[in-house]
Amino acid sequence: MSMQNNVRILVADLGVFFLKKKEAKFREMSEFLKAMVSKLEELKTNPKEREWKEDFTFIQGADCQFGLIDRYILKSPVPNWDKEIKLSSDAIRQINRLEPKPRFFIICGDMLDAFPYPEEKALRERQLVDFHRIYKDLDPEIPLVCVCGNHDVGDIPTRATVDIYREQFGQDFFIFWVGGVKFLVLNSQYYRCPDNVPEELEKQNSLLDTLAEGPAKHTVAFQHIPYFLKTPDEEDDRYFNISKELRLELLEKLRDAGVRYIFTGHYHRNAGGFYKDVEQVVTSAIGGPLGNDPSGFRIVRVTEQGLTHEYVPVEISSSTDV
Ligand SMILES: [Zn+2]
Repeated sequence: MSMQNNVRILVADLGVFFLKKKEAKFREMSEFLKAMVSKLEELKTNPKEREWKEDFTFIQGADCQFGLIDRYILKSPVPNWDKEIKLSSDAIRQINRLEPKPRFFIICGDMLDAFPYPEEKALRERQLVDFHRIYKDLDPEIPLVCVCGNHDVGDIPTRATVDIYREQFGQDFFIFWVGGVKFLVLNSQYYRCPDNVPEELEKQNSLLDTLAEGPAKHTVAFQHIPYFLKTPDEEDDRYFNISKELRLELLEKLRDAGVRYIFTGHYHRNAGGFYKDVEQVVTSAIGGPLGNDPSGFRIVRVTEQGLTHEYVPVEISSSTDV
C-alpha cells in the first residue's frame, strides 16, 4: 500500500473519530435537556402540584454565565470559564446538602456568556458542554428550570437565536406549578427588542392573558432583566432595567393577574423594591458579581402567608476537582 493511501486512510479514520466524538457530545447534550424538560413537564402538568400541601423552599439564582469573568471583568487575553465552573459546582454541592430539599432550582438567565450569533456559536457550544457537565451533578430530585437571558438569545433576538435557545434549554416562556403555587417564566428579551420576532412577543402576551385562570395560593414570576432596580419610577437605564413606558404597563398587568413576587437577575448585584404590593427581587450572580455582593443564590421559603427569601453566598470549597 502506498504512503499516500495510508495517509488517506488515517485522515478518514480521524474524520470518523471526530464525528463520533461530536455525536457523543450532542447525545450527552440532548440527554441532559431531555431529563430537564421531562422534570419540568411534570411540574407543568401534574394536577397534584396545583394543590397546596405544605410549606416548601426553592432556590433562585441568576447569571452563572460561563465565560463572563475572564472576558469582561479580568479582560484575560486567553479567556476560559474555570472560575464560573468552580462557582457553579460549589453552589450545586451546597444546594444538594440543603434540608429541606428545595422543590426546584431556577436560574434567571445568562447561563452562558457567549451569544448564539454565528460568530460566537462554537464558543457557546463549548460553554454549554461544561454547563451540562457541572449541572448534571445537581440532585436529580431537584428539577432545574432555566430562564432565557440576553446572552442566551442575543441582545437582538432573531428567529435563529430563539431556535438555538430552545434547542439548548427548551421553551422560553411557560407556566409551571409547585405545591399549589403558580410560577410564570418570561423571556424579558422580547420586551427589550421584539423587532425580529414580533410573533414570539405576541405568544408571550397571550400566555400572560391566561395567567389569572385557576386558583393559586400565590403567583410568582421569573425573568432575566428587572423591571426596575430600586423604584418603579426610576429613569431608564439603557441596559439594566425595562423601559419606563413598558415597565408600568407590564407590572400592572402582572399585578392584575395575581402576581405578588417577581424574581430577576442580570444586574449581578442584589437590589429590588416594590411596585404597589408587588415585590420585585433582583438577585446577584452565581458567577461573576459586578458589585460588592459575593457570588451566591437565594433560598426562597414559601408559606401560606407568602414568600420570604435570603441571599446566600457560594461557599467556596478548597477542592479544585471540578
Ligand atoms: Zn444579562
